[in-house]
Amino acid sequence: MSSQNLQGKVALVTGGSRSIGAAIAKRLAGDGAAVAITYHGSPEKAAAVVDAIKAEGGRALAIRADAGDAAAVRAAVVGTVKTFGGIDILVNNAGIALGGPIDEITEADYNRMIAVNVTGVFVATQEAVRNMKAGGRVIHIGSSMVRYAAFPTASLYTLTKGAVAGFNRSLVRDLGPRGITVNTVHPGPTDTDMNPDGGPVSKIVGPGMAIGRYGKPDEIASVVAYLSSPEAAFVTGADIVADGGFTA
Ligand code: NDP
Repeated sequence: MSSQNLQGKVALVTGGSRSIGAAIAKRLAGDGAAVAITYHGSPEKAAAVVDAIKAEGGRALAIRADAGDAAAVRAAVVGTVKTFGGIDILVNNAGIALGGPIDEITEADYNRMIAVNVTGVFVATQEAVRNMKAGGRVIHIGSSMVRYAAFPTASLYTLTKGAVAGFNRSLVRDLGPRGITVNTVHPGPTDTDMNPDGGPVSKIVGPGMAIGRYGKPDEIASVVAYLSSPEAAFVTGADIVADGGFTA
């Protein structure tokens, strides 16, 4: 399902080379937006996303930018603005899941998690909103883990996602008067490279899925598409959970 309600808009999706980010990029392009994606470790997959969008007649660009490198993230926003003439939609999707039992988490892993999952989101948002006009959209990808911790070893991951949810809430007051909305989509277990259906996490959380199955990246992308659309102009500060009832 797609409309053309994002015609003339420009979107940047961080971590758009694979999984949920790739689905979001393709969906926003299908809705008419010019889409830039960032990637870090998967240049071929990023190029394939760009090719797929172009094959459908869309406009797309891949930019290598480690979300944990603030200068690279700023440059990606600037590159998007230069190439497409502005930025209307920022989707902070890039994320990693390092962790372990609390006694064993290393400072290196802690610092990397904060850099990618928190600082990367802050910097991308700051640089994007400097260039964003009324009607702009900032959409964070959080996690249903901020509502319900189904298993141990995820305290560091949940810390970073909780930080993003708090950032979202307060940012609403800064950006509302400028006509920019800020929302967080919290996916539940979704079949991706990070959390494959059938993988170790699915054995624990699978029985808790109210709808009896894992989510699909496209099902997260459709929520992001709605929040990006003109119809969502009055929705800001929302934490939208898309988790198949996992945390209900
Ligand atoms: P994947 O690991 O499957 O894909 C991650 C994507 O982010 C890839 O495109 C990857 O690109 C990119 N990425 C990772 N690290 C960096 C980095 N340092 N700089 C730039 N890009 C980076 O993850 P998912 O699609 O599953 O997750 C996407 C988001 O959704 C994350 O924020 C995650 O926390 C969240 N989420 C996922 C859930 C799930 O069950 N899958 C549940 C709840 C939340 P590359 O390979 O090019 O580095």
